[in-house]
Amino acid sequence: MDERIGMMATQANVNKEALLAKYVAERDKRLRADGVDQYLRLEGQLAHYKADPYAEPIDRDPVTDHVTFAFIGGGFAGLATGARLAEVGITDVRIIEKGGDFGGTWYWNRYPGAQCDTASMIYMPLLEETGHMPSEKYAHAPEILAHCQRIARQYGLYEKALLQTEVTGARWDDANSRWVITTNRGDHFTASYIGLGTGPLHIPKLPGIPGIETFKGHSFHTSRWDYDYTGGDPAGGLMEKLADKRVAIIGTGATSVQAVPHLARAAGELYVVQRTPSSVDVRNNGPIDPEWFAGIATEGWQRRWLENFTDNQAGGNPDEDLVQDGWTEISARIRQKLAGLPREKMSWDAIIAAYEDSDFEKMEEIRARVDEIVDDGETAQLLKAWYRQMCKRPCFHDSYLQAFNEPSTRLIDTDGKGVERITERGFVVAGTEYEVDCIIYASGFEVGSSYERRAGFDLEGRDGRKLSEEWAEGMRSLHGVHAHGFPNAFFVQPVQGANLISNIPHNLTDIARTIAAVVGKAERDGARKVEVSREAQDSWIDMLLQGPGRMRRAPDCTPGYYNNEGQEPTPAMRLSIGYPAGPSAYFKFIENWRSSGEFEGLQFER
Ligand code: NDP
Repeated sequence: MDERIGMMATQANVNKEALLAKYVAERDKRLRADGVDQYLRLEGQLAHYKADPYAEPIDRDPVTDHVTFAFIGGGFAGLATGARLAEVGITDVRIIEKGGDFGGTWYWNRYPGAQCDTASMIYMPLLEETGHMPSEKYAHAPEILAHCQRIARQYGLYEKALLQTEVTGARWDDANSRWVITTNRGDHFTASYIGLGTGPLHIPKLPGIPGIETFKGHSFHTSRWDYDYTGGDPAGGLMEKLADKRVAIIGTGATSVQAVPHLARAAGELYVVQRTPSSVDVRNNGPIDPEWFAGIATEGWQRRWLENFTDNQAGGNPDEDLVQDGWTEISARIRQKLAGLPREKMSWDAIIAAYEDSDFEKMEEIRARVDEIVDDGETAQLLKAWYRQMCKRPCFHDSYLQAFNEPSTRLIDTDGKGVERITERGFVVAGTEYEVDCIIYASGFEVGSSYERRAGFDLEGRDGRKLSEEWAEGMRSLHGVHAHGFPNAFFVQPVQGANLISNIPHNLTDIARTIAAVVGKAERDGARKVEVSREAQDSWIDMLLQGPGRMRRAPDCTPGYYNNEGQEPTPAMRLSIGYPAGPSAYFKFIENWRSSGEFEGLQFER
């Protein structure tokens, strides 16, 4: 038996009907007609919230040259692609990045306490190639940012990079078989191939609270942390300048869960303003022992770990669990339940039932943990999450709940309604105004907006066709990577491929292999164009649509970005799916696709 499941609530003491009724009541409180439109974009008088506090402005001449490969986005997707291309000898690579350095998510998110939620051994890309040993099971943000820089240095990606630069247009020039790229710094250059790793969660958003622009104190979004104001540093140094300040943090998602313990330690007074509690399970972080690491880090280790995690989490039938964390525990519970089932009773319904039972039990444990940790009974009650674990991003932390025992810290629960109003002096909840010096918005990022909106430009493919038009009814691709009408372009993101949500970098590093293989072949064969045929794309999409679809979201889920804020999914969301047989099967499939040398579905044209 899996030791982590030793304490599990038994089925007998979970009253499922009562729990479901509670889940529905809590969801209903939070449903709102404006759905995703409730959030504010950082435009006009709110535009200053997205200014980069981490980079010194630069001045440079525009570039007007030609490169073999241009990649938009300097996060894990661009780094992995640049590295894999270098491995096949393609080093004429230019990464264009709006931030002041490589890192993507890890460039922007420097809030105190930021760390990865998926184990470093599988989360951090190219550990084996760079020889880096993560210092902790869940590495903190500065180490991950430094690792991004390490990859960029090792593979020579700084050389041609355009940092602090936003792409404004990318147009396919069919006569010359190249992409023409323009930027906000006047660059106008061409590239034989283009890659897009613009990220799903990078445009910060603010909550649509009336009066938000009237606040006279200091305020910022968590992805633009103002250490000049707070003191301290991303490594967790005490934010000494907050000692005499009254601070509010609005939002209690994955970001807030990590930042709150640091704010609780530093602030004179801290208000944690909650609309929906997060589920917060055990983290169990710790240092990685170099001796142990030296023992396991034999050739091919990271790939073995990646495959083992994916098999444990979403697919195969592994005989060991190398990562041993909250993600693999969820699947271990389900497997354990199914193991007791006679063979003739094994069915899809039985799997769903095992999943549901495990979930009810797990959430009961998570709620019981709140009672164990939080001293004040009323606060503990308010911190309990009443929904299924996968309705919202599961959180793991060993000092978030404890923070509510600090004398400085007070939970302001809005009973699902959110903050009523922001005033010149502070915020209002249930008619009471709370005066504060600083408001920190832990309100997340735009999700589900159109690709061109998140990318910041519209890709213009063959015959002038725009990506926004091609994908108006939803994304259409082969493997999530190639799109018909957009030759020599590659999308680096999980959807319509493995769609492994618990470890996004695995999707990205695998796609990087695909790109290197395809571009390597095109270059070897002297092909000027590579494009997926319409037929191959259509049949891939038809095949995906035959599967069970997007991870089943229970109708009783509380609203959030996982379920379009509780609104009906848009037609485009129907295509936000992955390989029906699951991520493990996908990774095997694509490995065969790449290594066969056939590249079925793609057309190479000289
Ligand atoms: P989220 O979107 O998860 O959270 C936003 C928070 O703001 C929610 O608690 C939301 O409440 C609250 N909120 C929104 N509007 C209001 C309002 N009007 N009044 C009061 N509260 C409001 O953003 P995060 O930045 O926390 O996380 C975004 C994602 O980034 C995560 O889901 C995760 O995928 C990723 N992430 C990953 C981390 C990691 O791997 N270590 C760490 C941090 C983030 P409600 O829930 O009711 O909508």
